[in-house]
Amino acid sequence: MNAEIIAVGSELLLGQIANTNAKFISSQLSELGINVYYHTVVGDNEARLLEAIRIAEQRADLIIFSGGLGPTKDDLTKETIAKHLNRNLVFDETALYAIEEFFSKQKRPMTENNRKQALVLEDCDVLLNQHGMAPGMFLSENDRIYILLPGPPKELEPMFQYETKPKLAALLHDGGVILSHVLRFYGIGEAELEHRIQKILDEQTNPTVAPLASDGEVMLRITAKAQNEQQAFRLIELKKREILDIVGEYFYGVNDESLGFNLVQMLLENELTISAAESLTAGLFQSELAEIPGVASALIGGVVTYTKETKIEQLGISADLLEEYGIVSSECAAAMATKVREKFHTDIGIGLTGAAGPGSHDGLPAGAIWVGISICDLEPFTYRLQLTGSRNTNRIRAVKFTFSYLMR
Ligand code: ATP
Ligand code: MG
Repeated sequence: MNAEIIAVGSELLLGQIANTNAKFISSQLSELGINVYYHTVVGDNEARLLEAIRIAEQRADLIIFSGGLGPTKDDLTKETIAKHLNRNLVFDETALYAIEEFFSKQKRPMTENNRKQALVLEDCDVLLNQHGMAPGMFLSENDRIYILLPGPPKELEPMFQYETKPKLAALLHDGGVILSHVLRFYGIGEAELEHRIQKILDEQTNPTVAPLASDGEVMLRITAKAQNEQQAFRLIELKKREILDIVGEYFYGVNDESLGFNLVQMLLENELTISAAESLTAGLFQSELAEIPGVASALIGGVVTYTKETKIEQLGISADLLEEYGIVSSECAAAMATKVREKFHTDIGIGLTGAAGPGSHDGLPAGAIWVGISICDLEPFTYRLQLTGSRNTNRIRAVKFTFSYLMR
């Protein structure tokens, strides 16, 4: 089965929003083993949408639409498809009930336009919208599947995951299952990792192995198809062992277990507390940790000290030290780590300072970063990184490096 995603919305063409729905749907389809050959974006215009549908029908057997299911005049996806497929629009009682409920709870009058949101293509499977009013639609016609999803990601994503994906999986595998598992690596580049497991990548059939990289991390998604879950799990385990035999030294976690997640588990298991003084990352280290539930027992606090003055005032670092070595220095990173650990009475203190880029700082090139780590009463130690990314990539990579370093 191969798919095309048609994102409808003039705001996408105007550059006002990014087409994250296509990204999301594509990654979900790849988990199902469905190839996506085209992403199309078209404005809120009936003639051009019709043209896009006709082109997609020539080259895809699964066409997924995002957007244009709302109540306003520019929302015309389902009307256009109804016209094209010669299907009526009929009221879906469940959706209508949900919309009426919503308005009566809000004590607001319901307009005719709002009622229209409950209109669906005749004989389709209605996809429930748990986070909005417009239902989605799933229909087959002439050996082709059409899926209509609402534009807002917070409505589209759960509707895809919980309502749409199981239908597609069932269609694909008559009762079989697809299981997928992500292996996470740090400290090795995507090209190097692919090179090392080239043979596995070249010979893959079932399970399939797909590399994906982001912000200094590489992930491998292993997807297995089998008659039952146990078999699929076994296939994945075998492939996992084969991969880890080659690149196991860089492996740190699976699925949603990010570097931050692993660090927080380590801190909690060892009942350790942490604080951070951040310069170039300006809170990113703490913010990334704060995404992990349960972190409150480990992350005590921290400071953003962006300038020389705030490093002196907030942390009590000596002006002489900063004068002598500069703020992007091993000495400064070590002092930040020690001072913040003392200030917040934690077991571990982190100091992050550097030249995020694009310009250099005090003669140091962009991407020159010092990570200071102070643990209990031991001498603080520092680590120098030389990163080569953009400003924000360098900031996130400095954070990820620190996470991985702390887990050693
Ligand atoms: P609504 O009922 O909110 O009008 P809709 O199904 O009619 O929903 P649109 O009007 O096309 O959808 O888009 C609503 C909002 O959803 C957009 O303003 C945008 O914030 C978001 N959105 C739409 N399409 C996309 C997309 N492809 N990627 C990411 N966000 C999108
Ligand atoms: Mg709309």
